[in-house]
Amino acid sequence: MNLARQLYQLQELDLEIESDERALEQVTGQIGESQAVVKAKAQLESEQQRLEELKHQQHTAEWEIDDITGKIAAAEEKLFSGQVKNPKELASLQQDVDMLKTQCNRLEIIDQVEQSEAAVAGITAELKTMTADWQRQQKQLAEEMARLKAVLADLKQKWQRLSQEIKPETVEFYQQLRERKGTAVARVEQGICRGCRISLPTTDLQRARGNNLVQCSSCGRILFLA
Ligand SMILES: [Zn+2]
Repeated sequence: MNLARQLYQLQELDLEIESDERALEQVTGQIGESQAVVKAKAQLESEQQRLEELKHQQHTAEWEIDDITGKIAAAEEKLFSGQVKNPKELASLQQDVDMLKTQCNRLEIIDQVEQSEAAVAGITAELKTMTADWQRQQKQLAEEMARLKAVLADLKQKWQRLSQEIKPETVEFYQQLRERKGTAVARVEQGICRGCRISLPTTDLQRARGNNLVQCSSCGRILFLA
């Protein structure tokens, strides 16, 4: 096989390897904990803690409410019994009842408990969906990672096989040129070097048809006539 063609194929393999390695790096970067899931878990934990505190408060409040309710009943009984005739005393009793009722309302934390319970249920459901999505995504990423690794192993094997057919110093020359230029081998199409888009002199074209390596006189890349 023409040496320039072999090097061109080696370059094609190198480009594929590079692109797959970039893809693999990207996939690997996406594997791991999801920030959104971590955040939701923390949110759930703090809401659960709040709910527990509220329930504790509610429990204590229930005792107090029982006590106050008893006092209200006693005060109302007195108020409506007709025994108290003094308007001042009546007004004062009414005030007591109102105050006790306000106290009672202040102790009502059932609404807060219900709100917190709803929040806990909401976050739990959200977390469940998020976790399922994340697990699905992680599975896909793991599959993609395995696929890319297999492809890369295959490409590298092909690279090894091909490079063994070429003299080591030529492979080294190719690699140095590639490091410098990005691409080491340039296709020649219609007499033009695709590396630098310059029209090549006929002598270069004729030499490139042989089995010797010919570099573009303008950009220095190895010329490959397809
Ligand atoms: Zn060129």
